[in-house]
Amino acid sequence: MTVTEKDKKFIANTYARFPVTIVSGKGATAKDENGKEYIDMGSGIGVNSFGYCDKEWIEAVTAQLNKLQHTSNLYYTEPGVELAELLCKKSGMKKCFFGNSGAEANECAIKAARKYSLDKYNDSDRNVIITLKQSFHGRTLATLKATGQDSFHTIFGPFPEGFIYSEANDFDAFESVCNDKVCAVIMEMIQGEGGVNPLDKIFVKKVFEFCSERDIIVITDEVQTGNGRTGKMYAYQNYDILPDIATTAKGVAGGLPMGVCMLGEKLKDTLTPGSHGSTFGMNPVIAAGAVSIIKRIDDKFLSEVVKKGEYIKSRLGNCKNVKSVSGMGLMLGIETEKDAKEVVAKCIEKGVLPLTAKTKIRLLPPLNITYDELEKAMDIITEVIDE
Ligand SMILES: *Cc1c(COP(=O)(O)O)cnc(C)c1O
Repeated sequence: MTVTEKDKKFIANTYARFPVTIVSGKGATAKDENGKEYIDMGSGIGVNSFGYCDKEWIEAVTAQLNKLQHTSNLYYTEPGVELAELLCKKSGMKKCFFGNSGAEANECAIKAARKYSLDKYNDSDRNVIITLKQSFHGRTLATLKATGQDSFHTIFGPFPEGFIYSEANDFDAFESVCNDKVCAVIMEMIQGEGGVNPLDKIFVKKVFEFCSERDIIVITDEVQTGNGRTGKMYAYQNYDILPDIATTAKGVAGGLPMGVCMLGEKLKDTLTPGSHGSTFGMNPVIAAGAVSIIKRIDDKFLSEVVKKGEYIKSRLGNCKNVKSVSGMGLMLGIETEKDAKEVVAKCIEKGVLPLTAKTKIRLLPPLNITYDELEKAMDIITEVIDE
């Protein structure tokens, strides 16, 4: 049986895969089972921050693998602590909880926000969380419910309660759904799966002011936007605000599974022994990989991310079929006259791997993609869009 046939036979049928089997990669270039090469403009959905098989990352991971692959959270370990210190310095947050995915990071944020509210107000009804329409927060039951798209709420019920939805970029709507039972709001600064839609600066500023006056916890979901993706370490830094909680995952460990719930000043002591936990969380091998990624994302590196994003935008600006380009840094959404899925399928034939987000083509290339690779990828993408 081929890989494709075995996959169909033994893997749960949750993914509509493209007819490509990726077997290896180097930098931003992936190779399939026939040796055909592709420039990867999706990084495994924003995960491979430094591309495939980055030398420094492999060295960090393998060195740790040769020392200690796992122990339990009953004992202290070094890499997670080093990573947490780095993340706090770069984010302005105060403490980290480590899990294994974006959904888990958001679960932790939901729990922490509710516990903060209960500890402080002793009102078990003050538990409601406002989320934005068109958002995406994960696939667990709670994070599905937190996802502000009705299509995610049709099966798998009953869901956890306590989520209400408000239109993004409409502060009046936000104000009108907010009541004294609300303990938190969660939002992506740029909605990723929802179509690469950045929030308006004025909306964000008003929500922050409104929430801080009422002690409503602001959670920013930086699962996709975090770790340098938008040209800042975290996307909220493009908005000059500091949330109470920031969650991240995807790109944080350069290709290994990790989710982080970063707690700000208000919530740094909210979680207590036994109130939350994870067997695999803070795994030393993954944390060592993450340290090697995070420590290299400095201001100089971030300014390159911005420049590469500008380069992509300038190439798209010359396309007759491009209607709009949204996003920041290397998280971009392209609206064209054509069907996004057809554009992606054609690009794959020609050796480029882009993503889609709703009706847009979505680009999330490795942050360290070379101009040579970027140029080749944009030659093909612009050709397919305009042909
Ligand atoms: C991908 C994503 C998630 C879910 O992350 P998983 O690791 O798949 O659980 C949550 N929020 C946002 C904004 C995402 O892009």
